[in-house]
Amino acid sequence: MPVQPRADLHSLPSYVAGKTVPGAVKLSSNETPGGPLPSVAKAIAEATADINRYPDISVGKLARRLAEKLAVPSEQVSVGCGSVALCQQLVQAMCAPGDEVLFAWRSFESYPIVSQIASAVPVTVPLDAGHRHDLTAMAAAVTPKTRVVFVCNPNNPTGTVVRREELERFLDAVPSDVLVVLDEAYREFVTDADVPDGMDYVRGRDNVAVLRTFSKAYGLAGLRVGYFAGPEAVAEAVRKVYVPFSVNTLAQIAAMASLDAEDELFARCRTIVAERDRVRTELIEAGYEVPETQANFVWLPLGERAMDFAEHALANKVVVRAFAGDGVRVTISHPEENDLFLHAARSYRRTS
Ligand code: PMP
Repeated sequence: MPVQPRADLHSLPSYVAGKTVPGAVKLSSNETPGGPLPSVAKAIAEATADINRYPDISVGKLARRLAEKLAVPSEQVSVGCGSVALCQQLVQAMCAPGDEVLFAWRSFESYPIVSQIASAVPVTVPLDAGHRHDLTAMAAAVTPKTRVVFVCNPNNPTGTVVRREELERFLDAVPSDVLVVLDEAYREFVTDADVPDGMDYVRGRDNVAVLRTFSKAYGLAGLRVGYFAGPEAVAEAVRKVYVPFSVNTLAQIAAMASLDAEDELFARCRTIVAERDRVRTELIEAGYEVPETQANFVWLPLGERAMDFAEHALANKVVVRAFAGDGVRVTISHPEENDLFLHAARSYRRTS
């Protein structure tokens, strides 16, 4: 008999990366535009002298620095090879085969994938009519088998948010042995003061964790660094299932340098936020439904026209991320690139 991988992997969906098309503007992966800051590029260049050595396996310096910033003990922080790796580690660390992982749908596409990899059962609760988390329905969907709940805030791909009061009601309703993971990959783009900082709950409750990343606001998507903050026992378990050395030396150095340059980086975020609000307003003026977004992207719930719209955008040299039968997610970039997209969107309305 030939060697056979696990039979259940046949049904595992693949992670779909945003496409890159030569000559077209890429607005498909929620990256931030602009290369690394000079100070970060310099730190990376200097660190290359050490790449004959293994990285710090504990990612200790960065973890301690993050713990200080987040005002929690460093034992509660784990650093990973992007927050997507941490999603996978978390589910592996929390779930035995058959345990349930609960999340809204549509949300970040890795949640069902990492659940299946761990032989856990993904359980989804549809977003409400406003493309927002339905936390009442999610609380009702918790069973004795639920071990982890992901709440993506702001939600990828809709950009919608969960606000303080509804989140606190949800946290009060969830049993204390269920870990609620607030995935805050886009936290730095949030301007609505009613959207809570998940760290307030990590510090105040025993079953809440936060996931964040250096891939978006910090502009280091290519280097792969994310972090987890949560209950000490979970942080420790997440470290146990870490692939040794997977946060590489350059990533550790670049993340530290980026923390030193937050003022500059967050100024860039404010420009993106202003552009986000402009793009949304202009899309609405052009006749599109665009849910309120607090992230660095907008969501067009185009349903069956999603793929057609994406093709039209591509013909206009703009790559967007389409979800068949559902909608299109468009990353906010520099004004000129956003204008190119707006032009494509307006011409689609006229022709469709
Ligand atoms: N969470 C959410 C909600 C995301 O959108 C992403 C990236 N698309 C991630 C986590 C993973 O980011 P990374 O692995 O680059 O840190």
